[in-house]
Amino acid sequence: MKEIIVIGAGPAGISAALYTKRAGINTTIIYKDIGALAKAEHIENYYGFREPISGTELAHAGLVQADRLGVKFVQGEVFSISYMDKFVIESSAGEYTADSVIVATGSPKSAPKIEGIKQFEGKGVSYCAVCDAFFYRGREIAVLGCCDFALHELHELLPVVRSATVITNGDEPTVKFPKNVSVITQKIRRIGGDDRVRFVEFVDNTRLEIEGIFVAYGVAGSSQLAKVIGAATENNKIITDDNMETTIPGLFAAGDCTGRMFQIARAVYEGAMAGTSAVKFLRRQK
Ligand SMILES: Cc1cc2nc3c(=O)[nH]c(=O)nc-3n(C[C@H](O)[C@H](O)[C@H](O)COP(=O)(O)OP(=O)(O)OC[C@H]3O[C@@H](n4cnc5c(N)ncnc54)[C@H](O)[C@@H]3O)c2cc1C
Repeated sequence: MKEIIVIGAGPAGISAALYTKRAGINTTIIYKDIGALAKAEHIENYYGFREPISGTELAHAGLVQADRLGVKFVQGEVFSISYMDKFVIESSAGEYTADSVIVATGSPKSAPKIEGIKQFEGKGVSYCAVCDAFFYRGREIAVLGCCDFALHELHELLPVVRSATVITNGDEPTVKFPKNVSVITQKIRRIGGDDRVRFVEFVDNTRLEIEGIFVAYGVAGSSQLAKVIGAATENNKIITDDNMETTIPGLFAAGDCTGRMFQIARAVYEGAMAGTSAVKFLRRQK
């Protein structure tokens, strides 16, 4: 039996799952929380409601609707998608495989606002440990983050780098980092260097000399997930064709992560299109 995994349980992910499940495909949604709708107090521009509805209420209605159809839900944070015969999804809830994947992870995350971070992108600042660890073999690096995603990236890096330091930019770590890794919780003033990153300067004027920084702030964003598997992105958005297929066959994207129009109506449409396209893709595989 073919399997589809949808990452994200917002309007795009739920909409995609409704189409894939009703087409008879085993469908699992892996999601962290209810996404952007949690912040939307009143919605009155979406079809079919006499009175404004709260974002939380609308999100929960979507979860119940998909659950009623038999969509499986796994609560967890996805760290990476790769491909080996099948798609492999690594998450805090374990490893999953699928024949097709739909990424519906919401609004692209912007880089944390730290002086120097943009300036050194591609010159020591990386957003993808799997992609770039090799370039830092035997070097001293820092991982910027405090939580599950930072720990995951650290595990990718430790076997190749000389040493790694976690820098949390003022956040308290929510996970236990390995004993041989120092953790600096000071706020960062700036990232500096010459033609490449050379140091991180903290607000207490101390400096950490490093040759690379891996940004693993918060949850893995859509473009980080896309980059690991090699799907094309532009300005943090995942690039798709009109059928919502990315540049990787069988990998689809929908909703705010494609960066077109940050509205529920668009997310639902793209989810429906990604779902039907994924079903067609799987039927062609038989
Ligand atoms: C304050 C506010 C008010 C809004 N008001 C309106 C409005 O009135 N009308 C309107 O049309 N739109 C409104 N929007 C926009 C609307 O909420 C979004 O366009 C819509 O929710 C996008 O749907 P999505 O499924 O693409 O992403 P989201 O709804 O953001 O869902 C993303 C999903 O991906 C999951 N996820 C992300 N990363 C990972 C990961 N690494 N691992 C596992 N899961 C992950 C999240 O947990 C979530 O389940 C509003 C947004 C905000 C913030």
